[in-house]
Amino acid sequence: MEKDRIVLPGDRLSTSEELLPGEGTFDDNGVIRSSRIGRYAVDRRRKTAEVKPLTSTPVILKKGDIVIAEITSLKPSMVIAQVLHVIGKNREISGDKIGTIHISEISSSYVEDPSTEYRLGDIIRARIIQVKPSLQLTTKDKTLGAIKALCIKCRHPLIRKSSFLECKKCGNKEKRKIALDYGRIDLNKI
Ligand SMILES: [Zn+2]
Repeated sequence: MEKDRIVLPGDRLSTSEELLPGEGTFDDNGVIRSSRIGRYAVDRRRKTAEVKPLTSTPVILKKGDIVIAEITSLKPSMVIAQVLHVIGKNREISGDKIGTIHISEISSSYVEDPSTEYRLGDIIRARIIQVKPSLQLTTKDKTLGAIKALCIKCRHPLIRKSSFLECKKCGNKEKRKIALDYGRIDLNKI
């Protein structure tokens, strides 16, 4: 991974042979991964990989904002997601960051069970449809949905096949409500 790039939770940064896991990273069986969204940096003196938060002045979420969020909970009629980043604003978010996606707002096709569309830890692109009294998101559009998902069996990133996602490590096949550009998103260009 090149320095100064914006990375997502779970992104591979380096190996424990090259660097030590520093702030915002963790060691995953010899691979150093990011534990948050931020900018990748290497501290040469301490030989650590670090992920710096995208901070300066806080951003207040607004209706219509496109955000990057992580699925944190699945319920029978909704999905809970934590907003990590507002697209176009490299700043920390102030206020409520926990949003809900009602089952009817997941996809434009009928969804009977949210766990057929999203899984814990999925990184999604969503649009804010309400801020008060509670933060509500939608992923109905083709450009919205999962942009990164991990295998439920082995936590390896899933690769997009024609109509499903596949794990290159264990061969597991999974379904998600994906964004059109799943697996091809470069956060440094949005
Ligand atoms: Zn797998």
